[in-house]
Amino acid sequence: MQKYSGFGLLKHALSHHENWQRVWRNPTPKKHYDVVVVGGGGHGLATAYYLAKEHGLTNIAVIEKGYLGGGNTARNTTIIRSNYLWDEAAHLYEHALQLWEGLAQELNYNLMFSQRGVLNLGHTLQDMRDIERRVSANRLNGIDSQLLNTKEVQDIVPILDCSKNARYPVLGASWQPRGGTARHDAVAWGYARAADALGVDLIQQTEVTGIRRKDGAVCGVETTKGFISCDKVACVAAGNSGVLAKMVGITLPLESHPLQAMVSEPLKPIIDTVVMSNQVHGYVSQSDKGDLVIGAGIDGYLGYGQRGSFHVVEHTIAAILEMFPIFSRVRLNRAWGGIVDTCPDACPIISKTSVKGLYFNCGWGTGGFKATPGSGHVFAHTVANDEPHPLAKPFSVDRFISGKLIDEHGAAGVAH
Ligand SMILES: Cc1cc2nc3c(=O)[nH]c(=O)nc-3n(C[C@H](O)[C@H](O)[C@H](O)COP(=O)(O)OP(=O)(O)OC[C@H]3O[C@@H](n4cnc5c(N)ncnc54)[C@H](O)[C@@H]3O)c2cc1C
Repeated sequence: MQKYSGFGLLKHALSHHENWQRVWRNPTPKKHYDVVVVGGGGHGLATAYYLAKEHGLTNIAVIEKGYLGGGNTARNTTIIRSNYLWDEAAHLYEHALQLWEGLAQELNYNLMFSQRGVLNLGHTLQDMRDIERRVSANRLNGIDSQLLNTKEVQDIVPILDCSKNARYPVLGASWQPRGGTARHDAVAWGYARAADALGVDLIQQTEVTGIRRKDGAVCGVETTKGFISCDKVACVAAGNSGVLAKMVGITLPLESHPLQAMVSEPLKPIIDTVVMSNQVHGYVSQSDKGDLVIGAGIDGYLGYGQRGSFHVVEHTIAAILEMFPIFSRVRLNRAWGGIVDTCPDACPIISKTSVKGLYFNCGWGTGGFKATPGSGHVFAHTVANDEPHPLAKPFSVDRFISGKLIDEHGAAGVAH
């Protein structure tokens, strides 16, 4: 794998940047793989990378119906944090955050990971009670979480309307300094490049249309490029997970909803952290390019259209203006949608299934970007060993039979 460095950049400048190597191969599918990963988003690519790197399985293919990272991975608002309420979720997301902290070096790829801190605002007494509870729970789990009063919030975000006359006055916030953002495509590309270098075949523009079984176990996948035999199938297909599960007669407790985001025209640096409000229901950060990156809530209906309703855009902008009247004359540049796979308890499914050799990693809903490295890491362990990683165990699909749900609606209330 070609090593990226400042020196390399200078060297290639001498040849007008015309001699860079291709970042990954474009292989013809083999007849057989040990593992087929369905879905070339961040989670699928991370899974393939850790399967190869940590479990020595290099006869792997990632099959992607579109292009790598073109699903929710390229559509999200890139917020990263680990301040979830329940131990199981907090441990999983903190595992991911710790991996993020060394990931750019590990992948030799600039992920533009920026630990600029994440604020969750409280506007009512009940909000503040919930925030205090979550901050305390986080601290017991060793997660950097702080409770801030109105003045402390105002010091961090001077442009936020913290006046007493605001329609939703800011009473305080939770603050996770190690939270932040990263460049979403870069994460997919970084994992793809590193997985390819370890021998993983990345097969794009190829849809999995069926999962074949023999004697109750997986034996391959039907694709638009023909049948590919394999020993294990690891599905990491976000909003399309239910469709894949139906191919083997499994119904997952998932709903697929449109979720939208939007960006403004680029502005001078004006906000250097992430501000989220569950109550007013909107959140904003500023990209390195200068756009305000704004996230909406999900559309209420189910759908696979990767676009959402206009009224959701309008509500989101109204919410942002309640908090930041200063943005009232900023122009919106683009809005788009993804399809998020939501579970009843707002937690993911990382699980074996009743079909031998078939695994699912899905249900990340509105908040899986932040988990990308951790999700791939624990799922690779689960697939390689046919045994859940200790951090993944509570997220087995069996929890919907046992009733041992992990209700993170409080922490995941607004999209993330
Ligand atoms: C608007 C929006 C904002 C968001 N904001 C945040 C945020 O700020 N922070 C956060 O943590 N999370 C956020 N999320 C959620 C986050 O984007 C997802 O949880 C995460 O990216 C899921 O990654 P993934 O790799 O599982 O899915 P994806 O990136 O969607 O990858 C799944 C891939 O599977 C492919 N696929 C599906 N079916 C098949 C098939 N049959 N054959 C072959 N390939 C198939 C798809 O084409 C797709 O590329 C947001 C999501 C959206 C939509």
